Amino acid sequence: MTKPIDWDAATNEAVGILREYIRIDTSNPPGNEERAVAFLGGILASEGIRYETAAPAPGRSNLIAHIGPGTGGICLLNHTDVVPVERQFWGIDPFGGDVRDGYIWGRGALDMKAMGVIELMTVILLKRQEVRLKRAVTFLAVADEEAGSEFGAAWLERNRPDWLDAELVINEGAYGVADLAGGTTPVFSFAPGEKVPLWLRLVTRGRPGHGSVPHGDNCAERLVKALDRIRNWQQEARVTPVMRAHFEALAAAGLGPGGSEAAILASAAGNPAARARLANTISLTTISTGVKVNVIPAEASATLDCRLLPDADADEFMAALGAVIDDERVEVEVLNRYQGASSPLDSEFTRTVAEVCAEMVEGARLAPELTPGFTDSRIYRVRGTPAYGFVPCLLPMEDLATIHGHNERISIENIRLGLQVMYEVVRRLCSA
Ligand SMILES: [Zn+2]
Repeated sequence: MTKPIDWDAATNEAVGILREYIRIDTSNPPGNEERAVAFLGGILASEGIRYETAAPAPGRSNLIAHIGPGTGGICLLNHTDVVPVERQFWGIDPFGGDVRDGYIWGRGALDMKAMGVIELMTVILLKRQEVRLKRAVTFLAVADEEAGSEFGAAWLERNRPDWLDAELVINEGAYGVADLAGGTTPVFSFAPGEKVPLWLRLVTRGRPGHGSVPHGDNCAERLVKALDRIRNWQQEARVTPVMRAHFEALAAAGLGPGGSEAAILASAAGNPAARARLANTISLTTISTGVKVNVIPAEASATLDCRLLPDADADEFMAALGAVIDDERVEVEVLNRYQGASSPLDSEFTRTVAEVCAEMVEGARLAPELTPGFTDSRIYRVRGTPAYGFVPCLLPMEDLATIHGHNERISIENIRLGLQVMYEVVRRLCSA
């Protein structure tokens, strides 16, 4: 018999690792993830866990390690890069890794260095406890997630597809919330799918000329008209199976609008976060035209960040958009298009998560969630590998708002909870 885990000691250890990890500035661009890889690799090596690295470019690097039989198995996926900071808005050094008021502060504390450390500690604890594994547990730390994954998961898919072999992936994409809807019921979340980005550029050209003589072929005006038609294009909200299950789970806890379709759709009106999970959305993000106040420009363009529901047909959406624009002189270019795919709502993983969350936290609920942004999970789902967003912490809404924002932080309590839940979920799924 191995000794039971001393969770106080394990939490202290995770906190120490996270503090150092935050001090490694991996703001992307430029990323510099090779520093993170060296750091994580050093810890793995000291535990006698072998790892491999793959560097797509100078400064950029990815790391993989396995324990248990073979490779693949359950992949604990995390990205090592973080988004840049606006230092002047922080009340604390974003790369100081300070501990204050029971929190660890810094860029990446939530997105997603703490989760990376929780995953790392899970692998380390399974090894130290000599848990007999029936399937491999893989730790995969990738670069460049915050800038489109070209030096991370997307690069691995093209160059080291063997690194992506897995039966199941656990990644970022859904956080548990401690005070959802102002209540006190702890709600863990898992995300079997995410919105699908479709990034478009509209371009139109016209006759240049002197601003004093309008000639009726002003491309800037044509673009504005097209954008106005798009702005008025109503995107119908609908309740996908994941969101139906989400609202049913909340309703069972006395939270949210209830489980009826009408109530769910009504709740989305005036609630951007709910609406983003129930409809295709379009954000006008850039407009570019003109050189001078008295010159009619020859070209005007705009970009649209469209996010489709996972089961939406992108071709149909594009055709409908063309009909809405209704002007053949406005061209629509596709900047980026991904495929949509979702993982099962009900699986060995989701059942195990439900069990563990209920045992660990009294009165806790588990709700499926649709990630409104996108993560590296998309690459796995399209390959047919089940991938779930599941950050097993219970964050106050106030802390959640610091993701990509200022004063990002995670409580030490949540490190402990996350570590205990993750360890137990993975142990149950993998122990022989
Ligand atoms: Zn992230």
